[in-house]
Amino acid sequence: MPAIWDLPDFDSHEAVHVFDDRVTGLRAIIAVHSTHLGPAAGGTRFWHYGDSQAAITDALRLSRGMSYKNAMAGLSAGGGKAVILANPARTKKQDMLDAFARAVDSLGGKYITAQDVGMSEADMVSLSKVTPHVAGLPGQGGDPGPYTARGVFLGVQAAAKHVLGTDSMSGVHVAIQGVGSVGGGLARYLAEQGAKLTLADVDAQRAADLAAELGGTSVPADAIMTVDADIFSPCALGAILTQASVNALNVRAIAGGANNQLATGPEGRMLADRGILYAPDYVINAGGIINVLRHIENADDAEINSRIDAIPARLSAIWSESDSTSLTPAEVADNMAQKLIGRL
Ligand code: NAD
Repeated sequence: MPAIWDLPDFDSHEAVHVFDDRVTGLRAIIAVHSTHLGPAAGGTRFWHYGDSQAAITDALRLSRGMSYKNAMAGLSAGGGKAVILANPARTKKQDMLDAFARAVDSLGGKYITAQDVGMSEADMVSLSKVTPHVAGLPGQGGDPGPYTARGVFLGVQAAAKHVLGTDSMSGVHVAIQGVGSVGGGLARYLAEQGAKLTLADVDAQRAADLAAELGGTSVPADAIMTVDADIFSPCALGAILTQASVNALNVRAIAGGANNQLATGPEGRMLADRGILYAPDYVINAGGIINVLRHIENADDAEINSRIDAIPARLSAIWSESDSTSLTPAEVADNMAQKLIGRL
């Protein structure tokens, strides 16, 4: 196995902490990508990985993504991410969570955790009994989903304006992949504005029920990426934009909440070559982290909402620069983020 510095996803991370607690069996990684703008902030993921290499890769990629996301959202926070290596049944034990909280605490505030895949609000409350370095507790931001959904809605509107030249969402056809917390919230905002909706979810009933409620249609999960629509909004999994799926797209723009949408990176160029506008994921989906991190500093709702309201202007600035250079929106956003964190 190559040394950590030689891994393809290592990006001069400031620190990569590995924890192994013999008593509880906890195995966890906390990757601190950058503290240039403030403490490294990002969620804890509780997940069963095929091997430890996959867990390290996830921590490296996700922590870098958080540096970019927090910087582009104008937050005084760097980027970090924790992964807890779960067993195949993903059994969670209290003593293991306590050991993880001690691990977070041992970094003395250099890393602030929030909720991510596999961690519940109750888990975050339990971590907070051991360490103060926990964000997004009930009453202090709580569930980030609704805030992310609002930011994504504003980003979808901005994308419609850019590619269709319209300020109104009435009749604009949006295909949404995944109608959970973010995708479901987005669908409701869009329905209120008269958009035409096509929804899909691996939980087909969930998509059908929401479509019936909002007056849209639902399609099987494996059909959503070829729907003939104005905008495709990925709100389920990452890495869905592959060479094959990009070739099969039938839309003018991609604007959705899922993290790491580009499978390997070059798909950003393929989208541009096909004339499909792309809203960089970490810019459009920052609403939740804005809410959670600003709550720590006791920001009020008005301030938080005004920061989320700034997402479309940020996207427009990225698209304008992309239009006037040979760079794709993903490249423009990466360059902007790298400048902000002192890497360019
Ligand atoms: P969620 O679990 O509430 O919803 C995800 C939905 O996607 C579920 O209904 C699930 O059944 C469905 N799904 C899973 N695989 C699918 C597939 N292949 N095709 C269609 N549907 C599928 O999750 P969420 O909080 O809404 O997050 C959605 C995405 O947005 C994730 O990628 C997440 O990392 C990202 N994100 C979420 C937030 C947030 O605040 N919740 C913030 C930033 C990014």
